[in-house]
Order: sequence, then C-alpha cells, then structure tokens
Amino acid sequence: MAVPLMQAVRVGRYVVKQHLLGRKRYPLVLMLEPLFRCNLACAGCGKIDYPAQILNQRLSLQECLDADAEADAPVIAIAGGEPLLHKEMPEIVKGLTARKKYVYLCTNGLLLEKKLDDYEPNPFFSWDIHLDGDKAMHDSSVCQEGVYERAVSAIRAAKERGFRVSINCTLFDGAQPERVARFFDEVMALGVDGVMTAPGYAYERAPDQEHFLNRQKTKQLFRDIFRLGKGKKWRFTQSPLFLNFLAGNENYHCTPWGKPLRTVFGWQRPCYLLGEGYAKTFKELMDDTAWEQYGTGAYEKCADCMVHSGYESTAVMDAVKRPWHIAKVALFGPETEKPMVPEISLENQRPAEYKYEAQVAEQVTLLESRKPARGPRVRVHKTEDKPVEIADAAD
Ligand code: SF4
Repeated sequence: MAVPLMQAVRVGRYVVKQHLLGRKRYPLVLMLEPLFRCNLACAGCGKIDYPAQILNQRLSLQECLDADAEADAPVIAIAGGEPLLHKEMPEIVKGLTARKKYVYLCTNGLLLEKKLDDYEPNPFFSWDIHLDGDKAMHDSSVCQEGVYERAVSAIRAAKERGFRVSINCTLFDGAQPERVARFFDEVMALGVDGVMTAPGYAYERAPDQEHFLNRQKTKQLFRDIFRLGKGKKWRFTQSPLFLNFLAGNENYHCTPWGKPLRTVFGWQRPCYLLGEGYAKTFKELMDDTAWEQYGTGAYEKCADCMVHSGYESTAVMDAVKRPWHIAKVALFGPETEKPMVPEISLENQRPAEYKYEAQVAEQVTLLESRKPARGPRVRVHKTEDKPVEIADAAD
C-alpha cells in the first residue's frame, strides 16, 4: 500500500469530521513553499523566475509552524524551489512531524545524500523525489545531464536508511505510454513506496511553453499508461479516483482550497499553480477568495489543468460520498476502454489576467521599504542562502 494504513485512516477520519461539521471548504494538504530558490532550472517550471531579492527570501521555522497552525491540514507537502537549500529544513520537518502531520519533503534529490544525516526515519515523514521518467526523459525535463542518476542514488540511500520514499513524476506532451510504463516498473523494482503522477501545468513563466498537455491528450496518455499497468500492482500515493479522473472517467470540478499554498508572499490565491493574489492569513484566503472564478470552465488559465492541486481533493471528497465507487476503482484500476465522460465546456470561461509583473514589483518595493529598518541588506532567514548557480547543483 503506497499510503500507510494509519495515514489513510487519519485522513479519512479528518474528511468525515469536516463533512459532519458542515464545512464547505477545508484543506486536505497544506502546501508550503518556504523558498523559491532552486539549484536546477527546469524547462517546465514556473516557480523560479523571480529577481534575486525574492529568491533570497525564506519562510522561517516559526512561519512554517504558524502556517500549519492556521490551516491545520492532516498532510503537508513542502516544495519550492529546492527545500534542501533551506538551512532550517530539518527543524521544520521535526516540528511538523512532532505535531503528527504527514510531511512529504519534495526534492530534486541533488543534495539529499549530503543532508540525509540531518533527518530520521519517521512514520509521519516521507521523501518525495522529483523524477519525470527514465534517464533521458528526466534529464531532458530538468535540463541537466546526470540528475536522474543522482536522484536514483539518493532514493537507494534513503531506502537503505529506512526512510519512506515516493517519487513525483510530471508528464509532458510527447511522453510515450510504453516508456512511462517501463519507468513505473523500474521505480517499483527500486523499492519506492509510491508514485505521485500528474500532467504538467502550463505555467505562464515556464521557459518551455511547447510541451504542456491539453486535457484530451492528458486523458488518453494516462489511459494508455494505466492499460499497460493492469495487473502490475504499481503503487500510487494518490486517490484511485484521482487516477480515474486522469484517465477521463470522472467529471470533477476543481477544489483549489483543498491544497492551499503558503509562500514567502503570503497565502496564494487560488492555488499552488496560479498566483493571482495573496492573502495575509489562511482565514482571509478561505473567506475572501472568489473561488467560483477559478477552475476548468470558469477561467482561461485553468482550461487545460488536471493537476492534483485542484482535483485530488475533489477525488478524496467524492470517495467519502461514494465509498463503493472508490472501492471498485481501487480493486480493478481506472477504466481504460469505455467512452470518456464529456469534457467541461469552456464557452463561458473568463479571459486570462496577467498579474505577475505587478506582483513582483509590489514584492520588491515591499522588500526595499524594509531595508532601512533591518540594516543595509535585505533580510535573509537563517539558511544556506548564498545564491546557488545551476552548476552548483552538487552542493
Ligand atoms: S483548475 Fe484549479 S488547480 Fe488548476 S490552475 Fe485552475 S484553480 Fe488552480
């Protein structure tokens, strides 16, 4: 089982409790991005295209703990940027797991072997290592040779030390089902505890805009992969109903509040993928966001999205409402032969708004305005914070 039984029980209990309390919106996974700085520059990444003042910002240990206290979600995914560049990361993980939160630390793996001694295996902790396919696929995706081998070596080292390890596999246009299926076989043989997979989201700031999948291609790709996986017992860390959605069998609408994101800017509206504004508090995010303006069919930037940040929570909530349905999909796997469900109409979606430049200018002005009060340099939290060049990825 990719997700430990106790974790599934605790998350299930949490979801049922939210329903019994009549909460319309609640977080399932707190997404934490304590920094944007990364030691890679992947072609499909829309997270690191910021000026140095912003890349040098960090959420402190206390800010991460406060974000958890505000959202109080049962699961926390720490992403970035590259979280292992953050010097307080071991304390952040320790602090969150001590609160019995299930923490997934998402990393490209380049620093993992060097940092492994700073962490201890814990039932509440899992490494989540970025691996977008086999060697050629992954190295091409991250735009650097040798990264796949470093990540695989890190997976082996972490498994030998008794850690839980999952991989995070994003697929792009041009992915070949047979090759992806072979890759899933390989990572299962490597002993990873689970795979989290999704299509890449078309970030407007990603350097490569050519290789994002549209929804029809996404569904066909995942159907073809899952057909090849029948009977293979691949372990996924995602809800079977989310996988069924990827294969074109669920007509889900986005529930972006299920995976709220806290970054150095604040609480991001509306989701992990789209930064259309920021709230100062989690409550403000939940209460004052115009949620109905987002999701496929509602907003142009959401048109092709089938990412877990918007749709996995929908799948989990559906599982509570239709337990017999999830049981069937878990038992037999996603449907791969019957007609797909109709696609959501895009007729009434509102046009995209472009806010990035204004947001960056606002944040830089804010940082500049803080300078006199905090000395001549922009404040940098206690971190491994000298700017890291791509060539510096080994360190
Ligand atoms: S569909 Fe949902 S998760 Fe996807 S970009 Fe839009 S708001 Fe975000």
